[in-house]
Amino acid sequence: MGLSTAYFLHKKGWEVTVLEKSDLSDNCSFGNMGYLSPSHIVPLAAPGMIEQGIFWMFDKKSPFYVRPSLSWQMIDWGLKFMRHCNQKHVDRSAGPLADLLFFSKNIFLDWAKNPALQFDLQEKGCIMYYQTAKKEKEEIAAAKLAEQHGLKIEVLDKNAAQSLEPDLPPEVIGGILFKDDAHIDPSALMRQLPGWLESQGVKIIRNAEVSGFHRNGRKITGVDYQAAGATHTLSADNVVLAAGSWSPQIAKLAGEYIPLMPGKGYSMTFGGLTKKLRYPCIFLEAKVAMTPWGDRLRIGSTMEIGAINNRILLPRAQGIIEAVPRFMPGYMDDPAFRAVYERITTATDSETLRDLVWFGFRPVSADGMPYIGFAPKTDNLIMATGHAMLGLSLGPGTGQLVAEIANGEQPSLDLTAYKVDRF
Ligand SMILES: Cc1cc2nc3c(=O)[nH]c(=O)nc-3n(C[C@H](O)[C@H](O)[C@H](O)COP(=O)(O)OP(=O)(O)OC[C@H]3O[C@@H](n4cnc5c(N)ncnc54)[C@H](O)[C@@H]3O)c2cc1C
Repeated sequence: MGLSTAYFLHKKGWEVTVLEKSDLSDNCSFGNMGYLSPSHIVPLAAPGMIEQGIFWMFDKKSPFYVRPSLSWQMIDWGLKFMRHCNQKHVDRSAGPLADLLFFSKNIFLDWAKNPALQFDLQEKGCIMYYQTAKKEKEEIAAAKLAEQHGLKIEVLDKNAAQSLEPDLPPEVIGGILFKDDAHIDPSALMRQLPGWLESQGVKIIRNAEVSGFHRNGRKITGVDYQAAGATHTLSADNVVLAAGSWSPQIAKLAGEYIPLMPGKGYSMTFGGLTKKLRYPCIFLEAKVAMTPWGDRLRIGSTMEIGAINNRILLPRAQGIIEAVPRFMPGYMDDPAFRAVYERITTATDSETLRDLVWFGFRPVSADGMPYIGFAPKTDNLIMATGHAMLGLSLGPGTGQLVAEIANGEQPSLDLTAYKVDRF
């Protein structure tokens, strides 16, 4: 979000400095599934989420989990989230999400033409597979809604699904191909984008942790950051807060509040495989996603809502990889896959899996919709966060919108659904 914003601000003539607390070798935008998902027009807060969440809380391997906590931030987020798990919210949000998803995808198509940004964009769509009549019914309803918002879909019966992906087991009864979806290699983009921005004149200060703000009335005049053991101050005309799951802490330093919780997710990437998945896909019952890039395969899942921590929960990592024999059994015959599978499923200490299991923290807003716009109490602070499971898809689009707002221009899209003070 921050780098996309820097891209568009620079393009509009701003002198841009990015303050980044890490060395930019990893964050949530690196190890995700790489989907550009116009198909995902239903926000995370949707009917059925609460019942499903409660049911899954008793399963150590489940894909969705809320870590119970008495923190005020968690309680406030939870109450707001529950209030939005209804059809009215979905109906209100689907249109704006579809618009922003397409807007952002078109920017990716444009970026892919830049020889300095090679991130393997493939427009193959994404297939949602189901194994039960209940999921089939739900997904067909979701596909119909998507069609109403201009998406191209194809309902696949069992034979059609098998002919697209011959390795599917007989338990898969069908799927929906969302033809507008695409996928990229997110780590490739994240490795190249900083260097390219710097070559264009954007200043990126790595290992610089934002630690405070100087204000004059309703305006921020300077940003404090810690770097090399000292406090530095940078003056600013406008400040964009795009710190993912860390955004609430930084907002607080500026006297602002945003209801947002980290949603930890895991992925594992396998290389040197002989077996090749043809299409990116999601196995709906298990909520496990798989993305192929040549001889590499990434598997990802899990939304663990709770404070940021660096633990790998072994049962969850094992739960993800155990989905492979159930949904893509052919991989078990691939020695490269099998070796890693056995290491993960027989591990007794998650610390031994740090080289195999990646995790990141999705910034999950309290209604599943991003926060894009000016902060309520600060005239020159723009928020660009809360994108939950869609932050890669929505990054460039959000960046362009933020730059338009900073310039005082009429934004390309209506931003009402993303207002920071909407609760
Ligand atoms: C398993 C998994 C799969 C996913 N798959 C997809 C997908 O297929 N498609 C999709 O669209 N989305 C996907 N997502 C979601 C997506 O990855 C996130 O929404 C997105 O990466 C969030 O981007 P961000 O820029 O907001 O946050 P981040 O990428 O986390 O960036 C925030 C940055 O702020 C920095 N920061 C924090 N505090 C400070 C501070 N005090 N000072 C300076 N810097 C600071 C951090 O170091 C970090 O670099 C997935 C997420 C997960 C976990």
